[in-house]
Amino acid sequence: MRHFNQGNEILLNITLVKYMVAMNPRYSRQIVIPEVGEEGQKKLQKAKVVVLGTGGLGSPILYYLAAAGIGHVRFIDNDCVDISNLNRQILHDTPRVGKRKTDSALQALKALNPEIKIEAIDANFSPDNAKDMFKGMQYAIDASDNLDAKFLVNETAVQMRIPCTVGGVIRWDGQMMSVRPGKSACYRCVFGEKPPEGTMQPPSKLGIIGITAGLLGTIEASEAIKYFLGFTDEGCLVNRLLMVDLRSLDFTMIGIKKNPKCKTCGGS
Ligand SMILES: [Zn+2]
Repeated sequence: MRHFNQGNEILLNITLVKYMVAMNPRYSRQIVIPEVGEEGQKKLQKAKVVVLGTGGLGSPILYYLAAAGIGHVRFIDNDCVDISNLNRQILHDTPRVGKRKTDSALQALKALNPEIKIEAIDANFSPDNAKDMFKGMQYAIDASDNLDAKFLVNETAVQMRIPCTVGGVIRWDGQMMSVRPGKSACYRCVFGEKPPEGTMQPPSKLGIIGITAGLLGTIEASEAIKYFLGFTDEGCLVNRLLMVDLRSLDFTMIGIKKNPKCKTCGGS
């Protein structure tokens, strides 16, 4: 009898997988994963994620969010595609040099997945409009190339109680952390005050190789996808800072703590 039951179970599983694939072939390869399944896919389809930037980090983030079937993806940029972007900003391409990045990203993402809601905002992200841009969203991802924007993404997300991931890349190095407002350390808990104006070289001078942004952006996207699938904070970069050095392939995880005196999240 044991044999018979096992056979039935296998048959049932095969039938279920075939059914799921037939119903939703686009996501069939991830629906068969135990941590996703049909329920997980529905969670992703209901998810709303806002991404600041469609550049080196934003490209893999947005591609993978759209590919995974995140139901509502919003992104913000206010730049044009430049030929010097293309070593890393793979959402854009040579024929679209000179076009608005939001239009270029929209074109690429709609071609990848026309089944989800994709919303482009062509504007400068500033303290005046940050909350409007995050309104209605459930997760925020920083894919900017400057510290002002990173601090602002963190602050806005903490104030609006939206979980977020903040990342940064330069040359062969990257770092990243995720924030759970009211629970975990935030970006300012770790990095404190912004360095004075003019003390840091701009990214264009420091340089970046595309693979660094590609790798770190992919992990940023995975942080959001795992959050919606119900992974615990321990499985995500919460209260942990990931530092990656692609020269040596060193992946270093540093434990971080909430600063009770933090200007952004202290006392919350
Ligand atoms: Zn803080």
